[in-house]
Amino acid sequence: MRQMIIDVNDFIHDHPELGNNEFQAVELLTRTLAEHQFTVEKGVAGLETAFIATYKNKEGGPVIGLLCEYDALEGLGHGCGHNLQAASITGAAIALSQNLGDLPVEIVVYGTPAEETTSGKLPMIRHGLFDRLDVALMMHGGDRTTVDGKSLAMNLIDFVFEGKAAHAAVAPEKGISALDGVLMTFNAIEYLREHVRPDVKMHGVITNGGTAANIVPDLAVAQFYVRAADRPYLDTVLERVYNAARGAALATGSKLTIRQVKQCENKVNVDTLNKLLLDNARQAGIEHISPPRSSTGSTDFGNVTYIVPGACLRVAFVPFGTSSHSTEWVAAGVSESGHHAVIAAAKSIAAAAYDLIADPNLLAEIRQEFQNAKAAFQANL
Ligand SMILES: [Zn+2]
Ligand SMILES: [Zn+2]
Repeated sequence: MRQMIIDVNDFIHDHPELGNNEFQAVELLTRTLAEHQFTVEKGVAGLETAFIATYKNKEGGPVIGLLCEYDALEGLGHGCGHNLQAASITGAAIALSQNLGDLPVEIVVYGTPAEETTSGKLPMIRHGLFDRLDVALMMHGGDRTTVDGKSLAMNLIDFVFEGKAAHAAVAPEKGISALDGVLMTFNAIEYLREHVRPDVKMHGVITNGGTAANIVPDLAVAQFYVRAADRPYLDTVLERVYNAARGAALATGSKLTIRQVKQCENKVNVDTLNKLLLDNARQAGIEHISPPRSSTGSTDFGNVTYIVPGACLRVAFVPFGTSSHSTEWVAAGVSESGHHAVIAAAKSIAAAAYDLIADPNLLAEIRQEFQNAKAAFQANL
């Protein structure tokens, strides 16, 4: 088992594939799962490189979801360590399936493509693929072993301004500058920044600022990430951001289209589930456990944790403070510490899942905590 997990890890690491093109990884993972009595369905949710692999031990038990990613980064390779996830989750699922005895349970492995780009989990959510789960677990490599305590709710938005082109010197009075709309949006958001909660992050770039300085730009586009600690509050901020852009359109006489590019939900934190993962990480021989990271971004796993209680174990395989999406992460993926992490993660996830299956009270407690955590966001408004 140990060698199989390491072989899967090393193969995926050495054959990096970009999001939605992870054909070799999916072939290897689904073949391995099928060889161990998992029923495999490929191409789910309209995504060629998404899959579901199911193992049913006995009717009437919980449904445990184990999620893995396997996409690499353009020009870098496996700089986010997704080779570790693919191998450890697959290994955990197989090991678990072989040690269930008489316990009723269904184990569902999800192959979720393109985490770094188009976020494969989002169409999988829209197709309702996670709805039947009782719990969702995943892992990620890291510079420390911990459990994510939070991730930010996020909307990625294009503000498309349309104006009217004119000669910028001969007849500027005949033009409407779409770029002015973009610039005023940036300024209005700067003023807004003072009057939102400190957890709000608003950061944008101009993706189209016009073509030539002697033409009044008839098209300009700004792209913004707007994030907050929770979805209900973020929705209130978003409306104010949209109003900033609407005001800019009104002031300049340009036409505004607000285009949603991507939406992530904040992670719904379930402490009991986090603790279960860390307890099992300790038992798997990981000695140094760190507190959750204080600064985080956003992830499509957050959207999954809005539907079902979920947690992500981070397992150290690079020195503390080493930035992800780096050559250091790529190199460590097949190093001794990478191999150690992938095995420890597989053991931790399998053992945590086993605890959830063996103790229905624990699962009930986690479900209740999940409902309470979601209600708390609403109450905080
Ligand atoms: Zn990444
Ligand atoms: Zn990643």
